[in-house]
Amino acid sequence: MNALVRRGVSRAGIPCLWRGKCFSSGNEPAESNRATPMLRHLMYKIKSTGPITVAEYMKEVLTNPAKGYYVHHDMLGEKGDFITSPEISQIFGELLGIWFVSEWMTSGKSPAFQLVELGPGRGTLTGDILRVFSQLGSVLKTCDISVHLVEVSQKLSEIQAQALTEKLPVERDAESLVYMKGVTKAGIPVSWYRDLKDVPKGYSFYLAHEFFDVLPVHKFQKTPQGWREVLVDVDPQVSDKLRFVLAPCATPAEAFIQHDEKRDHVEVCPDAGVIIQELSQRIALTGGAALIADYGHDGTKTDTFRGFCGHQLHDVLTAPGTADLTADVDFSYLRRMVQGKVASLGPVEQRTFLKNMGIDVRLQVLLDKAEEPSTKQQLLQGYDMLMNPQKMGERFNFFALLPHQRLPGASQERGACQSKTPASSVAGFDDLVWQ
Ligand code: SAH
Repeated sequence: MNALVRRGVSRAGIPCLWRGKCFSSGNEPAESNRATPMLRHLMYKIKSTGPITVAEYMKEVLTNPAKGYYVHHDMLGEKGDFITSPEISQIFGELLGIWFVSEWMTSGKSPAFQLVELGPGRGTLTGDILRVFSQLGSVLKTCDISVHLVEVSQKLSEIQAQALTEKLPVERDAESLVYMKGVTKAGIPVSWYRDLKDVPKGYSFYLAHEFFDVLPVHKFQKTPQGWREVLVDVDPQVSDKLRFVLAPCATPAEAFIQHDEKRDHVEVCPDAGVIIQELSQRIALTGGAALIADYGHDGTKTDTFRGFCGHQLHDVLTAPGTADLTADVDFSYLRRMVQGKVASLGPVEQRTFLKNMGIDVRLQVLLDKAEEPSTKQQLLQGYDMLMNPQKMGERFNFFALLPHQRLPGASQERGACQSKTPASSVAGFDDLVWQ
């Protein structure tokens, strides 16, 4: 890693709030209920066809092609609504880049691989990873690398193209499954898709950072009559206001609740199940690995659905379309969904993963190279944000999918190797060993 020089790009100032920080208490200050175009659209929809599920609400608010929150604006960074680890420190992406190279080496140095990122935001993470690949050019020189980005946001895909590609404009074809194409400064082809299913199958490393948490969740409440789904309805008392209600009888999504569920409120994310199964089938078929990093829990938390606007908690039903909506990822559900197909590792806390990947050594190298006191200060603040247990260090987790043959000690039946006692040395989940 000593060969890696720091770019002259400064990261965002350290924010006051990141998305993983708080739970929805239901007691956030009431904000003015602006009748946004999205609110009008939802009121019309609900008045015509009845209350909608929280999953449908989330999907409409975030990714509706005409008015969705993600589709038309850049919400990341100091001036946006929330900040993410790659935007805080270049070290984050560099260590993930090393993880992929380490897995590529351990699993036999395949002559080609695809780097596939789901929900790439501003393209910063892929950019940092590609810089590592280019610095490790002597190791990867015979390897044919391509980049594949799965992104629904037109606005963010443009920002990604600016960050990653040499020449603009890139090739665009809104009607095609590959809606944009370009080439990085190092000559690596980059393609954009709206759906993982459209990414070519082949030996791939998949990456999803703060992606699973924006997928729509269904919410259920235990009642004396059994589980009842939480729905979004119009408030009959106040104009232009939405409210939560309970479905009067069982709804189909209830099938996702575990028979022995002990909690009295649960959130389930069928879209996450579909995507994780697609990833596991691909990895089982063609090899590679997936690294998923997000805030979440192991099947223990209840009401985590919340909104963020301008680095503040935001009532999820207020002024929809102007704020991010998110829910903690249930890693136990992801693990159940891949059982028998691939081995899974984790979740392990971000601070453990990054420590195992050598964050302290990398920080020291950058501090030694930094000339400006302000740069040193920024590096130290970024490190603290990523690693401090009170900040992102414990709330964020890493979870990996690997082919069974990569983890010979892991139980094939359970399809899972728990993070606490990994059966084989996988970087990050265990100390990194260069081979
Ligand atoms: N990974 C980035 C951005 C996280 S924000 C980072 O860590 O900085 C979530 C990202 O997922 C955004 O790029 C958003 O546009 C994208 N996204 C949200 N829903 C999506 C969906 N259903 N399919 C593909 N991308 C989606």
